[in-house]
Amino acid sequence: MGIDLGTTNSLVAVSDARGPRIIPDAQGRALLPSVVRYEAVDGDIRPVVGWEAKDRQAEFPLTTISSVKRLMGRSREDARGDLAFLPYRVIEGEHRTARVELVGIPALPAKPGEPAAGANRIVSPQEVSAAILRTLKARASAALGVEVRRAVVTVPAYFDDAQRQATRDAGRLAGLEVVRIVNEPTAAALAYGLGLERASDRHRGKESTVVVYDLGGGTFDVSVLKLTPAAQDGETSFFQVLATAGDTHLGGDDFDRVLAEAVVPGLTDPAARARLLLEAERAKRDLTDGDEATIGTPAGPAVVSRARFEELIDPLVARSMSACGRALRDAAKAAGRGPEDADNAGWVDAVILVGGSTRVPLVRRRVAERFGMEPYTALDPDQVVALGAAVQASVLSGASRGSLLLDVIPLSLGIETVGGAVAKLIVRNTTVPAKATEMFSTSVDGQGSIKLNVLQGEREMAEDCRSLGEFHLRGIPPMPAGIPQVQVTFMVDANGVLNVSAVERRSGKRAALQVVPNHGLTREEVERIETESYRHAREDMTRHRIVDLIANSKLDLKWIGERLDVLADKLEPAYRAQLEARLAALGAMVAAAQNDWRSVEANAFQAAKEALDRESVRLHEISIAESLKGTGGAGPGR
Ligand code: ADP
Ligand code: MG
Repeated sequence: MGIDLGTTNSLVAVSDARGPRIIPDAQGRALLPSVVRYEAVDGDIRPVVGWEAKDRQAEFPLTTISSVKRLMGRSREDARGDLAFLPYRVIEGEHRTARVELVGIPALPAKPGEPAAGANRIVSPQEVSAAILRTLKARASAALGVEVRRAVVTVPAYFDDAQRQATRDAGRLAGLEVVRIVNEPTAAALAYGLGLERASDRHRGKESTVVVYDLGGGTFDVSVLKLTPAAQDGETSFFQVLATAGDTHLGGDDFDRVLAEAVVPGLTDPAARARLLLEAERAKRDLTDGDEATIGTPAGPAVVSRARFEELIDPLVARSMSACGRALRDAAKAAGRGPEDADNAGWVDAVILVGGSTRVPLVRRRVAERFGMEPYTALDPDQVVALGAAVQASVLSGASRGSLLLDVIPLSLGIETVGGAVAKLIVRNTTVPAKATEMFSTSVDGQGSIKLNVLQGEREMAEDCRSLGEFHLRGIPPMPAGIPQVQVTFMVDANGVLNVSAVERRSGKRAALQVVPNHGLTREEVERIETESYRHAREDMTRHRIVDLIANSKLDLKWIGERLDVLADKLEPAYRAQLEARLAALGAMVAAAQNDWRSVEANAFQAAKEALDRESVRLHEISIAESLKGTGGAGPGR
């Protein structure tokens, strides 16, 4: 298994032929808060780990240990800058190491060799971390039905030998063999498939530079990695950390604080302040998706806009950006690059976002601006480190073969169009990187938003394909059906990450989605999907054709019907009757096809549509002539 032993939250993941996945707890929660409370039970002390400890932290401030990662492998002196942030008591142990003194655990009956009853207990950071690891081990073992004993555990890239050794020791105390300690940014890169062997020679020997931007609850880390891929079969590729920078006291908690302070300045009562911070944190999450959020305050609800929130946190985000600058400069030096590469990020090949706070839209925008590219966000930023640790674990156990890392797109990619058909933008076996653009429009008058369902597969109908994700393009100004111009772009980069963007060209409204199309697919599945598409090819083609005919015919019926109403008395009765007959014939076809697509014959349907189109040419001419005279009535608003 792979374990992300985090400052705020920890996770466990495993990886098999379908790729890595998180193991949730019995309640379905992926995160385990890295919080441990000690209680006295039957003359001994017992740790309570996770949500239960976190939820009651305020009640037991001196026996609940959070952020223990800040103390791992450090002396009390090293950790001095952190002590003000830790509510429990940190003392000096052997060799000046940091230890936690638990104050106020109820008196314990004396046992031989134990401290006297009622004395405070002293625990090492390793023991506390071991309690977290033991909980994750039990979770994985229960889910998989076997005892999991071997683990890959991640640590920050800047951890020194003592901190890494302390992490190994915590594993041993938890009954785990820590097979490898992996840097968190390296794990994040592995989760995206970077640095794993590729199917072809094209990626061999080509070095690349990857930036990992990790903004969590209380800490910010940025790392610049150099990836040297395998030069030949049997070799493994490796990552080198060129530089790290960051801020050990910068994160989402600070966003909560500035937001709370802006709404109610100078609140000092601890309980009221704690409640306000909780409200601010919730509002902050709401502002990730919405334009406005409400915060409950002692004086009643207060509304905060996304714009105001962004103004408040901008200086904090700017601090993270200057750390990015330092990391880039150090990395340029370490890579033997000239001063011109220290400030431009043109030599960076990919940027990965890690940590819950990178969901904040301003953070994403600033990162994209600073590095001049869309960062990777397809994987859940909370989970990406644990997923990568699981990938490393499966590589080490020799189980990683069968996972899909191709230099071609194994299955076609497209979007769902009206009626449930699929418009394929990139067809299977296209080599990466690949890019495709196509124009779409609306099918209903005044349609203000378009749903984009991104699909993968060879079949012609959306319901027979795999949906990779959906997003909405909103805020399209009211226009008649068919007038908005929605440009959809698919871009698959060299690492196989797909960026889909949609922009309505008249209004400039845009929206985007990022996914990793190969996640959760095995070679066998790709083959099955391919075989099925052959079996259904003919039927699927017919259905797609009929669905498109329905959509196009409806636009014709509507437009021609409206012209006919407006221009009724300008037309010869015979022509009008003929046109009405064609309209009725096509209308009947559409109704029948909508009811059951098999009930109509595609060629006959197409013939009926073409007959109406031919017949309506004169109507178009009359309509144009009338509108030039200024009596044409309400035409499409061009
Ligand atoms: P750590 O690396 O310190 O263990 P995490 O990566 O779990 O921390 O990040 C926790 C932070 O992410 C918290 O400050 C939390 O408020 C923030 N966060 C989580 N989800 C969102 C969201 N949807 N929008 C904004 N911030 C979020
Ligand atoms: Mg983290």
